[in-house]
Amino acid sequence: MAVSAKELQRRIEGFTALCRAEGLKVTHQRTEIYRELARTDEHPDALAIYRRVRRRIPSISFDTVYRALRLLENKGVIRRVGTPADSAQFDANRETHHHFVCSACGAVRDFRCTAFDALEAPAAARQIGTPDSLRVEVRGVCAECARRRARAR
Ligand SMILES: [Zn+2]
Ligand SMILES: [Zn+2]
Repeated sequence: MAVSAKELQRRIEGFTALCRAEGLKVTHQRTEIYRELARTDEHPDALAIYRRVRRRIPSISFDTVYRALRLLENKGVIRRVGTPADSAQFDANRETHHHFVCSACGAVRDFRCTAFDALEAPAAARQIGTPDSLRVEVRGVCAECARRRARAR
């Protein structure tokens, strides 16, 4: 789903401020790449972002988009959703949130929950390493896929 124009504006302002804080130049290309990621809550992968950016910057290469995404990820400007690096999906939502992952279409959607935010990493996790954030992943079939399945029946 597309985010509201107001939310997109807020995200882009946050992006600009973070890039400056990290010493990254806010280039036209980087802004357009970020905009395509930030305008949706669908957590697109690099290829999907590339296809969208190409509509506005036809000369851009996939490699450029991919490298920009990895750079932004390394600087903490965007986050990678916990999937293997080669099929990484990216997340522009920097606020504490949780994910609903659809087991049918693979969509990753954000939701907020103050009860989940209050959870602390258990001792078993702290034995593995030092936790710095905690995100709850709810798995299931999204409403859209459920409707599609009902229609197919
Ligand atoms: Zn689905
Ligand atoms: Zn997310």
